[in-house]
Amino acid sequence: MNDHEPKFFESDTKKQTPVPFMRKNLRSEDIDKAEQQLKSIANNLIYMDYPATTPCDKRVFEKMVPYFCDLYGNSHSWHPLGWESMQAFEAAHKQLADYLGVSQRDVVFTSGATESNVLALRGMIPSNKTKNWHLITTNIEHPSILECCRQLQPDIKVTILPVSNDGIINLDELSRTITDETYLVSVIAVNNETGIIQPLEQIGKICKARGFCFHTDATQALGRISIDLEKCNVSLASFSAHKVYGPKGIGAIYVRSGTLLRPLQVGGGQQRGIRGGTIPVPLCVGFGEACRILAEEGASEVERISELSARLVTGLLAAVPYSQLNSGTSRKVPHIVNMGFPYVEGESIMMGLKDICVSTGSACSSDRLTASHVLQAMHINEYFLQSSIRFGIGRFTTASEIDYVVSRVATEVQRLRDMSPLWEMFNNGIDMNKIKWGRKY
Ligand code: PLP
Repeated sequence: MNDHEPKFFESDTKKQTPVPFMRKNLRSEDIDKAEQQLKSIANNLIYMDYPATTPCDKRVFEKMVPYFCDLYGNSHSWHPLGWESMQAFEAAHKQLADYLGVSQRDVVFTSGATESNVLALRGMIPSNKTKNWHLITTNIEHPSILECCRQLQPDIKVTILPVSNDGIINLDELSRTITDETYLVSVIAVNNETGIIQPLEQIGKICKARGFCFHTDATQALGRISIDLEKCNVSLASFSAHKVYGPKGIGAIYVRSGTLLRPLQVGGGQQRGIRGGTIPVPLCVGFGEACRILAEEGASEVERISELSARLVTGLLAAVPYSQLNSGTSRKVPHIVNMGFPYVEGESIMMGLKDICVSTGSACSSDRLTASHVLQAMHINEYFLQSSIRFGIGRFTTASEIDYVVSRVATEVQRLRDMSPLWEMFNNGIDMNKIKWGRKY
């Protein structure tokens, strides 16, 4: 190495870099105590809300640590700390692109899938204002897509396609809806509430034949199914690290080369000008490591989760009379199990299961106590709709946890049914289909 070449720090960074003075007094007894308390809360819970978020894998966390306090350089700075950060960023960028099976040039880091979704929908609007531009999406999208569509109107015409009872979009209807003003079709790859997988390849074919771009929100697909982005003719795809045991606050958008995406966030020209702003190197490193682990362990993990998923579904169907799988006949990922336990409310079941973390729908709309828009879109019967729970199975779920959850849910549903007027009406032979239901709010 000659003197002009950058001298990167060796991997044992503790020996190489000075310790910033801020770190010396960081830990206090109070922090230790709070950490112990939090740990003991987490250790006494069974986590089955993996579609909402996953714990950061300890291996991911350890990879990120040096880039916070020791190797903190701005990746665009022209000095050794900057070069070290740039090298880590490039390595993480490659890990993500390799995992997606695409060129590194076509992957841009964002703050998460919400930003990627909004960037796709807004950034693709053609600048040519001569047409009344049109966007097509579905009624089972994540709120980040649906809310963005709401805001784009009336400047942009939006068609929200319905899904059929099995949760899948109708391809003929999609074809019929396309006009010569359509600039984008955005369809979720794997639904976050039901786990149902959309026919991406067929959608891509339609978009290609009609000559416009296809965006997919692949947040829940990453690490669950493999998507050949090229074969599916996907122009844009959204991802998030915290759904795959990476850190929160980082995601990515795949932008196929030749796709004219305008940035929402301009700045110092970082990431080919598509997303300005200082690159959050520790988070990128975490996302990269999460992808490395998925590449090595993903296939066996999906197999193991499939077995646990089958155990959960069989167990619950047997233990809870009249329970139903809300995504029964469709093609779905095993990680997400959405089930209805009629004659009691989903929220009441959740409140009763204090030591089990589950949800009744998307965490992003949990502040609204309305029935799930996804289950409504699938025309799920009202008394299943109100009583549904989403179980998420993940890397750290065990068979004994599944068995415990089955028995706890069965006991809780029975306890609530014993107090439920609906259950009493049902047992007295009243036809539940004739009941007129009102919306809760
Ligand atoms: N899209 C889907 C399908 C999701 O499940 C989520 C997260 O819940 C998002 C988008 C938003 O992801 P993020 O939290 O990274 O913004």
